[in-house]
Amino acid sequence: MKALMIEDDQNIVEIVSLGFKMRCPEVDIVAANNGEAGIRMAKTEDPDIIILDLGLPDISGFEVLACIRRFTKIPVLVLSVRTDEKDISKGLELGAEDYVLKPFKQTELIGRVRALLSTRGRATQESWIECGPVKCLPHRRQLLFKDSPLSVTATEFDIIRHLMENAGRGVSSKELCEVVWSDGNKALEDSLKLHIKRLRRRVEEDPENPKMLVFKAGTGYYLSRPTREVSRKYPSGQAAV
Ligand code: CA
Repeated sequence: MKALMIEDDQNIVEIVSLGFKMRCPEVDIVAANNGEAGIRMAKTEDPDIIILDLGLPDISGFEVLACIRRFTKIPVLVLSVRTDEKDISKGLELGAEDYVLKPFKQTELIGRVRALLSTRGRATQESWIECGPVKCLPHRRQLLFKDSPLSVTATEFDIIRHLMENAGRGVSSKELCEVVWSDGNKALEDSLKLHIKRLRRRVEEDPENPKMLVFKAGTGYYLSRPTREVSRKYPSGQAAV
């Protein structure tokens, strides 16, 4: 398989190439150091996944993403120092599948690339899982909150899907890291916390005092079982974001 990195920082390209060589040798890395070349290579190299930097020397990563989406649906993982919530949303709206923030851990990036590559071509026959106001169609990767589409990154989708599939049971951070990054490394737990925080902002009325996506010391994260009270709290059609 082949991953195309569109990234102007040569050090990052080298580190990532080396990381893949060691931990995920089935994926070859090819690289473009600016946006225009990246768009060209997205056509000529026929990659299985694109890892896209947002801060490029010629055109913005968002422009590159919009342009790529006009001719291919291959997964795009945005890699950026931008932590602004609006940038993540914009990337998702333009059709990126996932977002990894710099500085990133190799295991996090490689785990996400693996997950995106393995998602492709999965069976699509399945039914909705419901958990209070949240509904999920796992293999189609659709998520609804009070019947409206909920825009989350692929990482966040994998987290909430696993919690929904295990609703009412505590899931340890280690288990979630293994599901999301195929790696239970303790160092990934900080990344996990950030993603959980973002998910809470999507589904909790008060993200600082979560009622749905809760954590209990010694047990782990869990989604409380669906109750009528949960859905009544929110007037229909109004998202608590
Ligand atoms: Ca850059």
